[in-house]
Amino acid sequence: DELRSLLLGCIRDVPDHPKPGVTFKDITPLLADPRAFGAMTDALALLCARHGADKVVGLEARGFILAAPVAVKAQIGFVPVRKAGKLPGATLAQAYDLEYGSAEIEVLKDAFAPGERVLVIDDVLATGGTAEASLQLIRRGGAEVAGLAVLMELGFLGGRARLEPSLAGAPLEAL
Ligand code: IMP
Repeated sequence: DELRSLLLGCIRDVPDHPKPGVTFKDITPLLADPRAFGAMTDALALLCARHGADKVVGLEARGFILAAPVAVKAQIGFVPVRKAGKLPGATLAQAYDLEYGSAEIEVLKDAFAPGERVLVIDDVLATGGTAEASLQLIRRGGAEVAGLAVLMELGFLGGRARLEPSLAGAPLEAL
């Protein structure tokens, strides 16, 4: 539809980034276009309302850029999920596997009130490893997963299937 073509028109394919053979989806043209950025923000804020989110989580780093204006628009709180070692105070940590090696993300222990409904936002869903770890963090933090929303889903990487168990019926929305 109209939103989809507006957004797709603002995403740049960068060949061989960050390594040979990978085509990187670059959202910086979209961020530089207030019409597209605004339309994306409105669409994501609508999803917050539709899925009854009490809070929005942004995944470092591009997820922050998307989720922060959504939180303001939807009038709900923003919670950062960060790479290990960045957040101040007591945290919950969740490790996940990368193609080579592993990574760890964290959230502040007191980020969520018990039973609060949380919508996770990121720019790109690839293998689903990052998103999966974030859903585990949210549940361990005592909150409920309202859904996962991404700008782009790279369907050929199978992230949606991988996420099925951890979504446990919560919606995965890709603009
Ligand atoms: P996954 O964990 O394999 O699903 O990778 C998703 C994470 O990597 C997200 O946080 C994305 O920001 C990032 N990512 C993976 N591929 C791309 C891309 O082509 N463009 C921008 N970010 C990407």
